[in-house]
Amino acid sequence: MVISFVRLNRWGYQIGLLFIFLIPFIAVACSQQLTETPVEPVRSTKDAEENITLPTQDPFLQERQEMVADTIEARGISDPDVLRAMRTVPRHEFVPEDSQNLSYIDSPLPIGYGQTISQPYIVAWMTELLALERGEKVLEIGTGSGYQAAVLAELGGIEVYTIEIVPELAESAASRLSRLGYEGVVSQSGDGYFGWTDYAPFNAIIVTAAPDHLPPFLVEQLTDDGRLVIPIGPPGSIQTMWKFVLEGGELKGYNLGAVRFVPFTGEIQDRSSGP
Ligand code: SAH
Repeated sequence: MVISFVRLNRWGYQIGLLFIFLIPFIAVACSQQLTETPVEPVRSTKDAEENITLPTQDPFLQERQEMVADTIEARGISDPDVLRAMRTVPRHEFVPEDSQNLSYIDSPLPIGYGQTISQPYIVAWMTELLALERGEKVLEIGTGSGYQAAVLAELGGIEVYTIEIVPELAESAASRLSRLGYEGVVSQSGDGYFGWTDYAPFNAIIVTAAPDHLPPFLVEQLTDDGRLVIPIGPPGSIQTMWKFVLEGGELKGYNLGAVRFVPFTGEIQDRSSGP
């Protein structure tokens, strides 16, 4: 009796040992199954479709969100409509194809004809300074690529007018804007020094090239509470960003610090005070 009891115990002991020995193999088998499980659904048609279509629709979506968070929001731009517009407008569509991979670096980029698309932070800052409200009209001088105009249109409920002096840029910006769904933007090729009398007055005017003096026609085309955001200073050098506000017929100017913009060209060169 005693012997058989001991034997039974020994069998139990040996089976126990065998089980302990097998545990790592069982665990490995389980972990392989676990790692395979999440891979499986990706192969299903639905997920495979999602994985392919999202990136081709907007391969820069994540880069753009990060740029807005890191260089625009982090530097104090807080207007939710401006932030939403900056997160939405596909800047890579406004730059030449060979520099698309640089679109979401916070920097100006060449767009041809010696001109540049403005730095995203500056676009967001100037847009916020305009303090636009639904139902208002804004005039941009210096369409360039059309990017700033698209950001203004993306705010929603704003009438956007834009003028560009280089006919080729005006033409390509107009077709780009309508291709991207901003067909409401009204554009023309011409010298913005004179504003746009056909559609004046404007609640706000934004100038994206730097004249060396304040063009008087732009002030004349502001509504009574109108805002004018404009860099002013010597061409090819450092200029000052100004915000002018028309209040009760009186124009108040606010100096907002040093900036660098491409020169304002056209009529202004004949009227400029010179270096
Ligand atoms: N807002 C543009 C930045 C363009 S750079 C963008 O988002 O891409 C400034 C533009 O102003 C240039 O395209 C330049 O040709 C234009 N410009 C310069 N002088 C001008 C003038 N007198 N009238 C209209 N556009 C002018």
